[in-house]
Amino acid sequence: HPTVPVLAVRNFSVDYGKVRALHDASLQVAAGSIVTVIGPNGAGKSTLLNAVMGVLPSSGEVHFLGQRERGSIEMRVAHGLSLVPEKRELFATMTVEDNLLLGAKVRLDWRGRGAEATQAEVYRLFPRLAERRKQLAGTLSGGERQMLAIGRALMAKPKVLMLDEPSLGLAPLVVREIFHIISGLRQSGVGILLVEQNARAALQVADYGYVLETGRITLEGPAGELMHDARVAATYLGLG
Ligand code: ATP
Repeated sequence: HPTVPVLAVRNFSVDYGKVRALHDASLQVAAGSIVTVIGPNGAGKSTLLNAVMGVLPSSGEVHFLGQRERGSIEMRVAHGLSLVPEKRELFATMTVEDNLLLGAKVRLDWRGRGAEATQAEVYRLFPRLAERRKQLAGTLSGGERQMLAIGRALMAKPKVLMLDEPSLGLAPLVVREIFHIISGLRQSGVGILLVEQNARAALQVADYGYVLETGRITLEGPAGELMHDARVAATYLGLG
């Protein structure tokens, strides 16, 4: 059914002990679209992604292609959910190629043609990774590392790709390059949930956005409208 979102999060709350980090958050992501969650440091953006992934316990519901998702992290990955964590978490002493192959291990056909085809696709998206396929991941630049982290997540053929601050620590030109590639991923039909402190870059690339502040979604709308919202412009785009 085309109107069923690939990912829907409903009335989601997450607690760290007695502290509630996320309050009753609801959002959805359609296939082939980019949805961003913007907000300041400590707003709960990473908490949201980790809870959707099943890394953190939460109350509320995650629906994946219309089905309630209650599985373990491994099951969520197998169902097509993939997270690129803020710290990238690559294997520094392994080559680019071996890091990518590890990303395919969750697939039944990880040794087969299917995984080879996806790898060729990743190298087409990121020619710099193709040039460096035998290089150790630990020797890559920050931007190349982010490319590898995204490439590795894509090796699992996700239906939903969640990205935790892909711009973090990268120079503006590199951010542009990576966001341009993220924008192109729509064509593959993957739904993207992009969490960012860099509101400008995120709203430029996204179709729809949510503003998360101290654990609550305070505003949502088409990305173009949010970009012109007076409060968003003043608080997050430095146009006050
Ligand atoms: P950042 O961009 O700085 O990572 P964020 O929006 O991703 O910010 P979170 O990392 O999700 O924010 O943190 C949300 C809130 O929960 C913060 O107040 C943070 O201090 C708190 N928090 C995060 N992890 C833990 C933890 N393991 N134990 C207790 N509190 C935590």
